[in-house]
Amino acid sequence: MIATSDGPIRRGLIAGVDVGGTKTSVVVTDDDDRVLYEHVAPTDRSAVVGQIAGLVDDAQRQMQQQVAAVGVAIPGHVDPQDGSVSMAVNLGITHLALGPLLQTELGIPTFVEHDARAAALWLSKQPGLRNGHAPSVAFLAIGTGISAGVVLDGEMLRGANGFAGEVGHVVADPEGSVCACGLRGCLETVAAGPAIRRQANEAIAAGRQTVLSENPSAADVFRAGSAGDELASEITDRVAGHLARAIRSLALTLGVKRVVIGGGVAAAGLALLEPIQSRIARERAASPLVEAALSDATVELLPPTEAPGARGAAAIARHRMGLPDREGVGER
Ligand SMILES: [Zn+2]
Repeated sequence: MIATSDGPIRRGLIAGVDVGGTKTSVVVTDDDDRVLYEHVAPTDRSAVVGQIAGLVDDAQRQMQQQVAAVGVAIPGHVDPQDGSVSMAVNLGITHLALGPLLQTELGIPTFVEHDARAAALWLSKQPGLRNGHAPSVAFLAIGTGISAGVVLDGEMLRGANGFAGEVGHVVADPEGSVCACGLRGCLETVAAGPAIRRQANEAIAAGRQTVLSENPSAADVFRAGSAGDELASEITDRVAGHLARAIRSLALTLGVKRVVIGGGVAAAGLALLEPIQSRIARERAASPLVEAALSDATVELLPPTEAPGARGAAAIARHRMGLPDREGVGER
């Protein structure tokens, strides 16, 4: 350990930060991937770099120890080599040299990765999921936006264009609303958190009877739907249908058999998962091809208390620092 005025640097301590469209999560993990510190704050879109630096400083102050490096998970087009993020449409970021700016601010090595990919990588390293095979998993993040992180046969999938897994901007309704990306009717415009709230608000404004009050969360809508509210059930059915199709597309285009849903919308729990699973069951019953592709596939929900993006970001930083990690998290 190196003693400094701000407390000792512990070589194995790494901060992981997950910047979402609504919330930013921070964890500090040790060599054994144990979480020693956890905090969630509303995202300040006007000052992303300053907020991350402040949250890491807060963590160090509270722990009275310094971290050796920081990993940041963020949506958009991320270049993990130069640490930049571009086209993070839900954060209003066109281009930001996030890694270098943060490294200057904090004075410690900083690594940046796509949020859903960091989460998928962390999930793929969890014990009990390997069954003797290199793991394949898709993490479908549904929050302010929607995207998937994919690990195929143990390898993180980026794609030649760096956009692999960006299912949030695959067309769901060609006549739908305009998306933050500039196109119309993307999956995000019907099934992300703000889209679910907007559908409820529009129906309430049009005079529909419902137990929902204005500006409900996605979880409120799903829960009211499962409790039998007619309007909430309609929205739930529509959203679940779009998400089930997205999951079928992931299974058919990438061959993944394990899809884990996370992000803010996943806080709805079974009220979200059950309608998706029953849609998929209907598709399997209707198509021998879909049945064969999805026969032993699983669709799971990650508990909202988990912070897979922040955990993944910390694991990637640990790996890039050459610190011990679980079975070589990160690129090969
Ligand atoms: Zn879009």
